[in-house]
Parts: sequence; C-alpha cells; structure tokens
Amino acid sequence: MADSCLSDVFNFSAGPAAIPETVLQRARDELLTRGTSFPSLMEVPFSSAAFRTIADQAHQRLSALLALPDNYRILFMAGGAMAQFGLLPLNLLGSSKRLAYVDSGYWASRAITEARRFATVDIVASAWRDDEGVHLPAPKSWGLETLDRGVAYCHYTANETADGAQFPELHEHSSSDVAVVCDMTSSFLARPLDVSRYGLIYAGAQKNIGPAGLTVVLVRDDLLGRSAPQTPDVFNYGLQSEARSCRNTPPTFAVGLANLVFEWIADNGGLSAMARHNDEKSAMVYRTIAESCGFYRCPVAPGSRSGINVCFTLPDEVLTERFIVEAEENGLHHLRGHSRIGGIRASFYNAVPHAAAVALSQFMKDFQARRG
Ligand code: PMP
Repeated sequence: MADSCLSDVFNFSAGPAAIPETVLQRARDELLTRGTSFPSLMEVPFSSAAFRTIADQAHQRLSALLALPDNYRILFMAGGAMAQFGLLPLNLLGSSKRLAYVDSGYWASRAITEARRFATVDIVASAWRDDEGVHLPAPKSWGLETLDRGVAYCHYTANETADGAQFPELHEHSSSDVAVVCDMTSSFLARPLDVSRYGLIYAGAQKNIGPAGLTVVLVRDDLLGRSAPQTPDVFNYGLQSEARSCRNTPPTFAVGLANLVFEWIADNGGLSAMARHNDEKSAMVYRTIAESCGFYRCPVAPGSRSGINVCFTLPDEVLTERFIVEAEENGLHHLRGHSRIGGIRASFYNAVPHAAAVALSQFMKDFQARRG
C-alpha cells in the first residue's frame, strides 16, 4: 500500500485505532493553515459553505466507495456506536413491539440488553462453542426468510471486535419484509459490501473511518419516518436526513478527517484492495498461531475467525503479561485483549501496515523460542 508506517512502532489497538499516516499529515497541515488564508476545519461554522463542501465531499466519496444505491441516506451522527443500540429501537420500532437479534458475542449482547429496554427481543441465533472454539451461526440458520412480519428488524454484529469472530458477507436477501440492521463498527470499509442487502448499517468511526465521536449510519429511505415521538430531534434519523446531518452541530473535525480517509481508501485501490491487505495481515498471524504447536491458541473456530481482530491466548497469565510487556518494549503496542475476554488481540484495520503483521509474527516466534 502507498501508505505505510514511517517508523517501526506499530499500533494494534482495537479502537480508537490507527489512522493512515498520510491522513494525519494532511490533517496537521490543514490545522496549521490557521492564520494564513482561512480558519482551519476545526474552527469553521457547521452552517458555512466551507464545511458544507467538506461534508458533501465526504458524502460523495463514501457513496462512491460503496456504490451506494439511490434509496439510501448517509447520516453523520454523534454519540458512538453504543448510542445506536438504543436509537435503533427508538427510530425503527414504529408500531411494532418485537425485534429479532443474533447473539454472536460481547457487542451483540450489549446491543440486545439495550434493545430490551424498548421492546421484546427474540434471539434468532446464537454463537456456540465446541473443541474447535467459538462458532458463529451461519446467516442461513437465522430464519430471515420466515421471520414474522411483526418484527421491526433483525439485528446482527458483523464483526465481534472483542471476541475476534466475524460473519461472512451477508449473501441472503431477506425475502420477508423484515429489514436487516447491522452493527458494522469494526468491519466497515474493510471489504466490499452490498449495501442493498441491508435496511440499515451503522459504524462508529474509530476503527476504519477516522476519529472517535462520529458514527456513520446508512439507512434505506423506507425506514425513515418511523421514529417514536419521544426521540430527541438530534437522534431522529428522519430529521437528521432532512437536515443533511446538521440538525445540530455535527462532529465537524471528525467528518473532515473521515473525508480524507475515504479519499485515502479510494487512492489505495478501494475496498477490494483493503480486503486483500487485511486478509494477508491476519492470515500471517493465524499461521503463526497454527505453527506454534499449541503455545498460542485462537479461541475461535477457523470458519468464524475475524479477519480484523485476531485473538489468541498463551499458556498462562504470567506469560500473557510478559508477552504484553516485551511486545511494548519492541514497539508493538496495544495488544492486550478486551477486558472482559482477556488474552491477546491484534487488530488489523485498513491503516495498519503489512509490516506490523510481519513484526508481530516474528516477535511471537522469538517469544515462543525464549519462553515456550
Ligand atoms: N459495536 C462494536 C462492534 C464495537 O467494536 C464497539 C466498540 N469497540 C461498539 C459497538 C461501541 O462503540 P462506541 O464505543 O463508539 O459506542
């Protein structure tokens, strides 16, 4: 890829995560234009022509990356992905009282807990575990075709960031009227996507889009206009769509940076190229795990492993802590697993260079040779 890390220090954070080096440089230059010809992006009113131009460009670039069908709106919202856990029922339940959710792991269960505050939630499929590790339920088994029309939508989490498990791209078209809603926070823009299979997609920005504080929502036109009357205006999908995401002050700097990230993705080959690079990076580390004769173990079954968040364990807690300390000393940062899951997690978002996977694999082999 054109963009690579300028040093041999690598960031494996699950989020907020690595941002492309060239985007950071452009953001720095942009901020420093202050006092020369015009104020920086951080300082312009959201109602100004300057911000409108940037927001429109971000909109166009994202639409182009996704080949977004005409009947979808892009919303740039604040509040993070978890805010959407409650905003989905508020905006989409309409007169329905029931929702369908796939329970695939940590983030899905958080989304389910929140949705239960608003409606009855049917769990249509769940992850399960056997000797191979965690398996995700194949989309074919969710019963999308036969879901009761009284269900407002069926929600799933495309990539379980904490557990390191990922669904394949959704190929089924739901032939029932039930819209598929997807939390794509940690897999958005990591590979090609057929938006038309979804009613709504949402993604917190802090993985592949840009800085935290922004959430991108793609929503199909026919799902607008169902919001409950008590939905706050600024979180009402229909009102934000009409206001082109400017019902109130949007996270302007985050939108501006996202605009640069969208351009960077296009300049670097688009979503197919992102997928190829991400697969190469994660496959390299999975290979190192497989070749470690059980010293490193992945808790996820091969068919359900995430191509983005690679999770693995070491034989005990002492070795795990030692691994993290020595990795940091070697410039490999933020490898600690999610606090509820433990172990090690290496996240390979778009901006993490190939060299990071090479360095981590080499470190894993050296560590095993010394401590195994
Ligand atoms: N969903 C997924 C899949 C996530 O990975 C995260 C954050 N790691 C969230 C939701 C929550 O995002 P936020 O912290 O932006 O609310």
